[in-house]
Amino acid sequence: MRSCRDITALVSQGLDKQLSLGERLAIGVHVMMCPRCRNFQSQTQFIRKAAHRYTEQLQNSLDKKS
Ligand SMILES: [Zn+2]
Repeated sequence: MRSCRDITALVSQGLDKQLSLGERLAIGVHVMMCPRCRNFQSQTQFIRKAAHRYTEQLQNSLDKKS
């Protein structure tokens, strides 16, 4: 069983790189039992999605100009 510190670190790393199956599994098992990390994960994913959407919009507006 990994600690909350490990899990939050893995979740953050997952934003920058593809996690291994074992790492994703460790996160999945942990967040099932740990509300705090589940919260952290959903917030992180929300921010990621929002940032992704923002980047796409920026890209689109740049494409239109050129
Ligand atoms: Zn935890």
